[in-house]
Amino acid sequence: MPELTSLLDQLIETTPPAEDPTGTATFDALNVLRLIRNIVDHQIVTHTAQLDDLGVAQKTGSTTKKMVIEMGFAPAAALRAMRSVDALPELPALARHAADGRLSPEHVDAIIRGITQIEKRCPATLSDDERSEYEIELLGQALSGATPAQVFEHARTIANALVEATDSGIPAADDASLNTVNVHTTDDGRIDIRADLTQVVGEKFLAMIDERSCPRPEPDGADDRRTAEQRRADAFELILDQAALGASIDSIGSPRTQLLLTIPATGADPATLPWTGSVSQATAKRLSCDGSLTEVVLDDEGVPLQMGRTNLLFPAHLRKAVIVRDSCCVKCGAPPSHTQVHHVRHWADGGPADLDNGCLLCQRCHTQVHHHGWDIVMGSDRHPWLVPPVSIDPQRRPLPAYNRRTMRLDDAA
Ligand SMILES: [Zn+2]
Ligand SMILES: [Zn+2]
Repeated sequence: MPELTSLLDQLIETTPPAEDPTGTATFDALNVLRLIRNIVDHQIVTHTAQLDDLGVAQKTGSTTKKMVIEMGFAPAAALRAMRSVDALPELPALARHAADGRLSPEHVDAIIRGITQIEKRCPATLSDDERSEYEIELLGQALSGATPAQVFEHARTIANALVEATDSGIPAADDASLNTVNVHTTDDGRIDIRADLTQVVGEKFLAMIDERSCPRPEPDGADDRRTAEQRRADAFELILDQAALGASIDSIGSPRTQLLLTIPATGADPATLPWTGSVSQATAKRLSCDGSLTEVVLDDEGVPLQMGRTNLLFPAHLRKAVIVRDSCCVKCGAPPSHTQVHHVRHWADGGPADLDNGCLLCQRCHTQVHHHGWDIVMGSDRHPWLVPPVSIDPQRRPLPAYNRRTMRLDDAA
């Protein structure tokens, strides 16, 4: 330990070479620092391995990975170190090159993940000789200047070739055992979803997205203001909503996704969702605009004491009436199966559930109305009218609902 501490002090005091007009000395120093970095990273792996062998974390009911993260290692770095801890004993040549600092931790990790990929795709277990052969091949590539991504890609190619060489092998594109879906909450409370899927699942996804993400005209006649990415994201939400109702819905704009939104009666605390926590007020209003409402009285510990009746905010007969009047999303013309019934005046503000207070909006237009400055007013003709935000029309002139807009164009013709 004392040696490591004095080494640390020495490193902290290090400064770039002074008086180095050609940069040669700085370049050389940088190269030594690169080796130091690689070696330190490998030392982290060997020390982590020892901690793991000693079962230090396990004695407190934790895991070595959790322990090093709590110590201050970034989760990605801890994960990488643990992969090395598990794999290096089986890959002696790689371990030697990691120990002398010639390979960066990223290269070491790419080789380890590459070997794992090959093992996964190999129909029989890899023999020691085979593993060593692939290890040397990937090592050679890494040492001759390939990037970690190239090394891993090369391993994938080997893996796919292995699969094709055997009769029972499944090509990567069809291998469901490789499928993964990962969900992370980002720092700003958004949800990041990544999926790696077989071609067929991907095809279903793309077909569903494609069908639902075509551009729709804006009420003022402009082209769809969403980007292709935004249209796909809207389509994704629509797929979830439709899945919740089953595939056969084609008419009634009934309540959508089964979200359990809890709204404190006092209004002091934010409304919350069970999976993702508190939501903004605007989101709470949009989510609760259409659906059913149950009054629940809780005790101090949050245990329900009393349940009220569950009431559909817009009962079925009213929905049908709204569909007859609006026939589609009043903003973009999306079919009724894509829509929800929006309260022109929100029920929380005393808006009643009746025909003159409801209109059809698809998921994305509903979001535009609750979050992006579009307003709905009920006209003297008892049809909904759309009021664009100032950014689109500074005078905010009302536009007719979609089904009335097309009628007008016909009239004009
Ligand atoms: Zn719409
Ligand atoms: Zn609404």
